[in-house]
Amino acid sequence: MGRMNDPFDTPPRPVEPGEYPVWDEALALVNRDLAATLPERAPLRLTGLPGWEEDEAPHEHVHVALADGTWWGNHLPDGSDADPVSALFAVAEAAQDTVSERLWQAWPVCSEHNLGMHLREADERAVWWCPQDHVRAAVGALDPVQRPPGARRGRGARRA
Ligand SMILES: [Zn+2]
Repeated sequence: MGRMNDPFDTPPRPVEPGEYPVWDEALALVNRDLAATLPERAPLRLTGLPGWEEDEAPHEHVHVALADGTWWGNHLPDGSDADPVSALFAVAEAAQDTVSERLWQAWPVCSEHNLGMHLREADERAVWWCPQDHVRAAVGALDPVQRPPGARRGRGARRA
C-alpha cells in the first residue's frame, strides 16, 4: 500500500466551487482584475494538494492556479479563509505569484505608469499600489486595459 498524504503520490485536484467559499469569493474579485487586464486569459482557479505527512494534522493545501492547473509559489496560508479581508490578501498575493511567474510578465501593471504593482493595505482593504506612489484600485476594481488594435502584451508579441 502507498502511504497516505504523500504529495508525490497524489496529483493536485481541482477544487470545486463551494468547498472553500471565502477563498472562492476572494478569487472572484481577483479574477475580475485578471479579466480586465488580461482578457485573453481564462480565469484562475483553486487547486488542492494533500498535506505533508510531517504535518501535525495533515490537511489539504490550496493553491491559486492558472486555468491549466499550474501555479507558482506558496499555498494559501492556513486560516486565511477565516475572514474576507485576509482571504483577499492571501488570494491576491498567490494570484500575483502565479500569473507573473507562470506567464513571465509583471501583473498587474499600472495603466498610467506601466509599472508592476504591489499588494498593499489601505483603509483595511487590499489595494494595488503603484511604485509611483499611488493606489491604483482596490483589488477587484482594476479598469479594463485599453490597448491599440492588434497590440499584444508579453513575450512573442514583437514583430520581426
Ligand atoms: Zn501608476
